[in-house]
Amino acid sequence: MIPPPSLRERALGAYLGLAVGDALGAPVEFMTAQEIRHRHGTLRHMAGGGWLKLKPGQVTDDTQMSLSLGRALIAHGAWDARAAAEQWAAWWRTRPVDIGNTCRRGIVRFINQGTLSGPASEGDGGNGAAMRILPLALATLHDDAGFATAAIEQAHITHHHPLSDAATVALGRMAQCLLRGEGATASRAVADGLIAGHRQFGFEPYPGRASGYIVDTVQTVLHGFYSTANFEDCLVTVVNRGEDADTTGAITGMLAGACYGVAAIPAAWLRKLEARVASEIEMQVDALLALARRGTSLAIGA
Ligand code: MN
Ligand code: MN
Repeated sequence: MIPPPSLRERALGAYLGLAVGDALGAPVEFMTAQEIRHRHGTLRHMAGGGWLKLKPGQVTDDTQMSLSLGRALIAHGAWDARAAAEQWAAWWRTRPVDIGNTCRRGIVRFINQGTLSGPASEGDGGNGAAMRILPLALATLHDDAGFATAAIEQAHITHHHPLSDAATVALGRMAQCLLRGEGATASRAVADGLIAGHRQFGFEPYPGRASGYIVDTVQTVLHGFYSTANFEDCLVTVVNRGEDADTTGAITGMLAGACYGVAAIPAAWLRKLEARVASEIEMQVDALLALARRGTSLAIGA
C-alpha cells in the first residue's frame, strides 16, 4: 500500500496543480471543445501557443496573481488587503502576458484611488477572485473565521459580486478540506452547501458551459473533479472543454492536487512547468504552512 500523501505533499500538489492546470489550459483558452478536437485530438500535453503565443509550460495571470497574493501574506506575516493590492499593482506594472478585464479595472482603481473595494457590480461575476484563493486557504488552514473574512476582502479588491464571493469562499474551503486529508466526500459537502445557498451552481446534469462567468467555471470544475478519479483524467476532462480553459484548469488542478498529492501530477507536465514558478511555489508552500501552524488568526488585528 502506498501511504496517503502528507500535508506538505497535498499542499505542493494543490499549488503545483494550479500552475500545471493553468499552463495546460492556457493554449486552448477561448477555443471551443470542437476546435480543440480538430487541432489537438484530445489535448493531454503542454502544447504552448494559443492566443497568447505561450511557451509550453508557461503560466498566466491565474498562477501569477496567486503567487503575488502569497508574497503579500509571507512578507506581512498576516492578512493585509493593502499589501495584497500593492503586490497585484506591482505585478500589473510588469506588463503581464495576460490580465482579465475585471482584475485590471480593480487594480487600476486601487492605483488611482487607493481603495480596497469597488462598489458591488453586476459585471464583477467573473472567476478572477476565485482562481487565486489558494495561498490564503493554505495560510488559514486551521482558521475558518479568518479565512472567510480575508477571502472576501481579497475578492473585493477586484470583484464585488455575491456569486463570486460565495464561490471563492467555497472553493477555498474545499481546498482546505482536501489539504487536511478529509477526502473528496467531505469536500463534496462544502460544494453541496454552495449549491444549497445558490442553486445556479448546480452541476448535475452538467450544463456544458466553461466560460469565465463564475457559475460556468464552478460547474465545470466540480463536474470534472467529481466525475474522475485521478489528477490526469480530471485535468484532461476539464481543459478539453475549452472556453476559460486556463482558469478552469487552474482551479481544478488546485482541488485535484490537494486530493491526490503532488506525486499524482504527471511528471511530463511538471517537467515543462516554468522552473522559476515551480521553485517559488515550493518556497511559498513551506512559508504559508508555517503561517498556518502559528495558530493565531491571520485576519485579526491585521
Ligand atoms: Mn489566465
Ligand atoms: Mn482564464
